[in-house]
Amino acid sequence: MSALWEDALNTLRSRLSPENFETWLSPIECRNIEQHTLHLAIPNSFYAEWIGSHYLPLILDTIQAQQGGVPYTVQWTVDESLQPPTQSSPTVPSVSPSPARVTSVPKAHSGLNPKYSFDNFVVGPSNQLAYAACMSAASKSGKHGNPLFIYGGVGLGKTHLVNAVGHRFLEREARSRVLYLSAECFTNEFIWSLQNGKMDDFRNRYRNHCDLLLMDDIQFLAGREQTQEEFFHTFNALYHLDRQIVVTSDVPPKQIPGMQERLISRFQWGLVADIQAPELDTRIAILRAKAEQERIELSNDVALFLAQAIQSNVRELEGILLRLAVKADLMQRRIDLDFSKEALRSVLPCPDQATTVEDIQRAACEYFGIKIADIKSHRRHRAVAMPRMIAMYLCRQRLGTSYPELGDRFGGKDHTTVMSAVRKISSIVGDDSTVREAVQSIERKLGL
Ligand code: ADP
Ligand code: MG
Repeated sequence: MSALWEDALNTLRSRLSPENFETWLSPIECRNIEQHTLHLAIPNSFYAEWIGSHYLPLILDTIQAQQGGVPYTVQWTVDESLQPPTQSSPTVPSVSPSPARVTSVPKAHSGLNPKYSFDNFVVGPSNQLAYAACMSAASKSGKHGNPLFIYGGVGLGKTHLVNAVGHRFLEREARSRVLYLSAECFTNEFIWSLQNGKMDDFRNRYRNHCDLLLMDDIQFLAGREQTQEEFFHTFNALYHLDRQIVVTSDVPPKQIPGMQERLISRFQWGLVADIQAPELDTRIAILRAKAEQERIELSNDVALFLAQAIQSNVRELEGILLRLAVKADLMQRRIDLDFSKEALRSVLPCPDQATTVEDIQRAACEYFGIKIADIKSHRRHRAVAMPRMIAMYLCRQRLGTSYPELGDRFGGKDHTTVMSAVRKISSIVGDDSTVREAVQSIERKLGL
């Protein structure tokens, strides 16, 4: 509908693989553009989540570059009448009926993401254990690995690995019923089923019609008693049927706040494996693999430079590579070392000095003219509560710090307080221009 969005799509089309473009960007409809906010409609909230974490920076960078440096934001609207390609009902992940469908349709339908396989997962010392454990779970060679519990920080490959388990499982046994979903999805579906009198269907699906359950980001169940109760019974039913269960989390079982003891102990019955941040060599290998996949020319010195500059997580590493490629396309430059340094400066102001929670707190306090002590206090007055929530939101979005840690760093708050602050700001940042300006201005100040 709009030339701006069309232009952006054209650039993005040349940057992404046709499969990714068709799956994730084609279904988006641009409904309106006002005050530097694009109102984009998508078929379901899962799309917003996925695009938000994988393609949004690239989309925003592309638009900003095409609009002479003016930053834009995006607001999503869910419109279920929009059809994602090659599928009829995308609302919730469902049991995979056959491997052919799994590999050819987007994750929103089958539950599995076709992009994530063992073949394109780069193994190094940091993820070797998790990789081996996942391979074993997929082949169901040992009973000792049930359940398999994988934990590690944001963007280190947990979702990739569990999806790979699903694909391998289906390659082995085409008719098996594999279910991949996030704990958040499970929660939403559970609540929906309760409210709509569909609990029998829900239980039937998860307890009786599932050979492999892949549950991502279980920490989402923190403090959700009723969903934990339901998951507990799901777990028991599957376990007793000897079905493989794989669970991921950002922390080890014992450190998930607000998780029932009986679930924590079950998570430890099988195998617990961690993923650490990748070492330099692994980061370089990942960059090379990604560049090849996306057909980006990447010289050795640039790969080394990027791998040294970005140590936090793999998603960031991939994101930077794609952004560099888009910039190079737009500016018709080659991605050499000078170009990379220059381009990275705008993305990471000091590559060797990462932004911290304290930096964000300080910048938020300066912006709103309050004291650090206020932001860490328990005062609920809007003049301090709003800056506090915005700072929490930025820490979570930009640094990926865990909720419990943020609770500590913000003067000893409960993790649920941090979670609701992050949710609140996420839900209003698109609409509320005061909040948006604050967020953008703090980000600019920190060069985020
Ligand atoms: P997490 O679920 O732990 O937050 P993801 O699985 O979403 O992380 O990984 C983030 C991105 O990094 C994905 O695009 C994934 O394919 C990629 N990635 C992570 N680790 C690796 C790896 N070892 N090899 C290849 N790609 C990786
Ligand atoms: Mg994940």
